[in-house]
Amino acid sequence: MPVGTNAEGKMVAAIKRLGDVKVFNMDVTADLTIMEEANELIERVKGGKTLPMFTSCCPGWVKFCEHYYPEFLPHLSSCKSPQQMFGAVLKSYYCEKNGIDPKDLFVVSVIPCTAKKFEVTREEQRTGDFDDVDVALTTRELARMIKNSAIKFTDLEDEKWDDPFETASGGGAIFGATGGVMEAALRTAANILDGTSNAVEFHEVRGTQGIKEATYTVGGVEVKVAVASGLANARKIVEQVKSGEKDYTFVEIMACPGGCINGGGQPYQTDSVRNYVDLKAERAKALYDLDSSMELRKSHESPVMKLLYDEYFEAPGKEKAHKLLHTPYVKRGH
Ligand code: SF4
Repeated sequence: MPVGTNAEGKMVAAIKRLGDVKVFNMDVTADLTIMEEANELIERVKGGKTLPMFTSCCPGWVKFCEHYYPEFLPHLSSCKSPQQMFGAVLKSYYCEKNGIDPKDLFVVSVIPCTAKKFEVTREEQRTGDFDDVDVALTTRELARMIKNSAIKFTDLEDEKWDDPFETASGGGAIFGATGGVMEAALRTAANILDGTSNAVEFHEVRGTQGIKEATYTVGGVEVKVAVASGLANARKIVEQVKSGEKDYTFVEIMACPGGCINGGGQPYQTDSVRNYVDLKAERAKALYDLDSSMELRKSHESPVMKLLYDEYFEAPGKEKAHKLLHTPYVKRGH
């Protein structure tokens, strides 16, 4: 299939043929991450707390920070990544709602990322006695499983995600492209700070460049943002903040150039491939096209967010949300 084809429905269909499983949409917990992260950003800005806040949904970047810039750990958002939030939601809310003992629930994530295999083993990210997520499979590994099972992927009819974690917003969808987390967070933060905000598209933070900067005024508050992808660019940004050369409010960092769409677990093309295409640009375009085709584009407008907060978490940053959806970090040696 051409690079940038949205194969979501076929992937769901293929996974359902691999086993008797429920298949949920991780864009849902990308929305949940935005709910918690936007709230944390606003609390930091209004409360005069540590800024800039750095995103924490990329375990490659988080571990880099833990090793090389431990003095910056207070700058990391305390939010778990969408993968870890999903595991925590499944082993708490979902188990309680469906009368399942969490020890009987095995959570497998499918993810474009090899660093997520490490993230699932983090001691400080567990729900009660259980790991949030039991196994993280890369998209390449899933593709291999599908091929080995002799499933003819391209012939599959699209199938839907399972209830109740089916519907996500465009904000959740663009999470995988560099600048996507920033844009999704700005959509929700702008709305919280200025209840009438209709700001949806923040084009300055889009594109595959390694570093992007912008300044926005939201609800009367000036927000200086930066987006970096690739760890060489992350280092540049951190050094500039450290020296006082830059005074950002909010920084998104992804370890992989271009973001998760270009993650270490994604299908790749070798130099021998004819019609070489820019994977980062094509895959990002697919996500932004999906976003712009959706009616629901802001995380906080998702009905699944309403369900989760009404039935379980009360509000972003509240006690239960803090216990299950947030995490500390650890200083690590070189
Ligand atoms: S940017 Fe790369 S390392 Fe970071 S979460 Fe995405 S795929 Fe994983």
